[in-house]
Amino acid sequence: MRICRFGNDRLGIVEGSSVHDITAALDVLPAYRYPLPSSDMLIANLDKVLERARMILPTAPSLPLATVKLLSPVANPTKIIGAPVNYQKHLDEARGDAALHHGNQIAVIHKTGVFLKAVSSLAGPSEGIALRKLDRRNDHEVELAVVIGKQANNVLRDEALEYVAGYCIGLDITIRGPEERSLRKSADSYCVLGPWLVTADEIPKPNELNLGILVNGEVRQDSNTRYMILDVPALIEMASSFYTLYPGDIIITGTPEGVSPIQPGDTVVATIERIGTMEVKVRAA
Ligand code: MN
Repeated sequence: MRICRFGNDRLGIVEGSSVHDITAALDVLPAYRYPLPSSDMLIANLDKVLERARMILPTAPSLPLATVKLLSPVANPTKIIGAPVNYQKHLDEARGDAALHHGNQIAVIHKTGVFLKAVSSLAGPSEGIALRKLDRRNDHEVELAVVIGKQANNVLRDEALEYVAGYCIGLDITIRGPEERSLRKSADSYCVLGPWLVTADEIPKPNELNLGILVNGEVRQDSNTRYMILDVPALIEMASSFYTLYPGDIIITGTPEGVSPIQPGDTVVATIERIGTMEVKVRAA
């Protein structure tokens, strides 16, 4: 199932070129009081919401997909976890190009571990990317994004996929420079998530997906998730050995080779097999 958030915080199910508005299914969410739970409420209750959604689907209003404004499929993650240089050819290009490494030592992910992007960097595809630091290089990175479905602590790789709610396309937009990754990758809109969440049952093999990105119609990245250094279960195992993962937490799993600059006025089109395609416009902040 493909679940999207769209328009004015509506919830939808995508089928073909239509979106079925199932916002009323959110009525099954518990009535929360402050302090809110440490998880995304939709993802934490996804089974219940989808059960209701299936009931109301036959009479749900439908809209053409092309006319809706797509938001991030996850509204309130507690963490956005990034996997630095998790493809060998991207590691090679990063080490070989001073415009990418800026004198930072680029170590393999086994040594570096994972990093965090601010949750305030999250944006939907229709919201676009608002570039900052225009005197510096801003790069696109297309990545498979994993959305955690249930609380995960010290999970072993053999069970790791049981903790996944679904998958999205993630864009890990990056200002090049000497600062920590968490700063350079955390500007508002620098984590684009979309176009929808594909539930995990539809993607039994997340480590065998073609992924790529076009900038203004030109192919810049074109690879497959099989070339990840740490695959999806290994990333969940590593991350959950340091901290608890909560429903709605997002792991962006690293980008393949071919990163390149983007400028205001550009249009990027990112595609991941079995998930879909999303178009994102780039502007100055
Ligand atoms: Mn990245």
